[in-house]
Amino acid sequence: MLDNSPIIAIATAPGRGGVGIVRLSGGNGVLLALAQALTDKILIARHATLAPFRSADGSAIDQGLALWFPAPHSYTAEDVLELQGHGGPVVMQLLLKRCLELGQSAGLRMAAPGEFTQRAFLNGQLDLAQAESVADLIEASTEAAAKAASNALSGAFSKEVHALVHGLTQLRMLVEATLDFPEEEIEFLQKADAMGQLQRLQAQLAKVIATTQQGALLRDGLRVVLVGAPNVGKSSLLNALAGQDIAIVTPIAGTTRDTITQTIHLNGVPLEVIDTAGLRDTTDEVERLGIARTWAQIHTAHVVLKLHDAAQPTSDCSIDLPEHLPVVQVLNKVDLLSDYAPTGSVYGISAKTGTGLDALKAELLRIAGWTGHAGGEGLFIARERHIQALNAAQAQLIAAADCAAMGDKALDLFAECLRLAQQALGEITGEFSSDDLLGVIFGQFCIGK
Ligand code: GDP
Repeated sequence: MLDNSPIIAIATAPGRGGVGIVRLSGGNGVLLALAQALTDKILIARHATLAPFRSADGSAIDQGLALWFPAPHSYTAEDVLELQGHGGPVVMQLLLKRCLELGQSAGLRMAAPGEFTQRAFLNGQLDLAQAESVADLIEASTEAAAKAASNALSGAFSKEVHALVHGLTQLRMLVEATLDFPEEEIEFLQKADAMGQLQRLQAQLAKVIATTQQGALLRDGLRVVLVGAPNVGKSSLLNALAGQDIAIVTPIAGTTRDTITQTIHLNGVPLEVIDTAGLRDTTDEVERLGIARTWAQIHTAHVVLKLHDAAQPTSDCSIDLPEHLPVVQVLNKVDLLSDYAPTGSVYGISAKTGTGLDALKAELLRIAGWTGHAGGEGLFIARERHIQALNAAQAQLIAAADCAAMGDKALDLFAECLRLAQQALGEITGEFSSDDLLGVIFGQFCIGK
């Protein structure tokens, strides 16, 4: 259901900056009148107009650029008005308040998180996978993730999905046509190489699943739990792993970093490292909350790194970790041993000199399932939701192959499996998506996007 009532939000990040942008969308023509009342000017489509932004008593709140994008040539495909003023929190709030006053009779209201992009999606400007990649691009914490998000935004992922849907449609047309002429069923399908088509689709889908899993890793990363006695070299290892591949650190409001978890990057894959040294009994409420959250993360972690000190065998620390977690044994400070010889499954390293780190990194990336797309080249960012949909489609194709093997008795089941596979793929691009799903996806956006 399309709601094109006018909406407004401050589109730039909170805080002070050279420029601040208030963005409005929707309302079937009311925004142009609002702009005129605010600026005393008649805006020209897609031209930047320098104008005062006036308060109710006629005095100027600010002076800036007004941009007018009439429907359908805008981000949302609705009328869009962008007001670019000076980026101070007070001046932005005053401008927002003034616009809300002017638009009150037209029903202007604050936009919900992601509502601009949701409208762009509902109006067919981008599909659901592209809309999600807008949020992922904004959230990207590495160059590789940003590149992969940008690839998905430009439609690389959707293109792969559409190619699969196209192949499925061809095959479905063939099978459905055959259903209408039962006497020729099997022979007809054989001639048209229905099984060959199905196998090629399965192979194509398997490839997309593999790439998508890599893209999801770039977004969600690998959670690593670090255990070891004090002074075994946990912090040193973290620093050494971060090394050259350090994240671009940006001061994002609201991302208070607690001391128990740290994010570093290996080949662009985010690694959330949980240092169990911080997990202790405490009466401090804030710290307790942090620790509770850390325990929740440990239960979704992928691997444990257990550190030992080569110079002095230390007592093991007693942390109850979930049993299913794979453990990598790491012997640190091997530079202190004169006669160190690597043994079996233990990774001998020196956080100080860097010895053995490459092998340890490679092992972590192997556990993560990373197959090495340096820099996110050729990847698109993806989410768990996409992988699930692709796997569901693959399961339907396998079922379809089983039906086909049963011969003409199961032809209608064959057709049904293909239909369900297509439907699963349609969930990725948003052709078959429930309102609940859309609510969850767009609810995670920032305001003003
Ligand atoms: P943590 O308490 O487990 O985080 O241990 P730290 O990283 O703070 O290291 C404890 C001490 O061990 C520090 O003095 C480090 O310089 C030293 N250390 C850490 N890794 C190595 C290593 O690979 N070789 C040597 N020789 N010293 C190390």
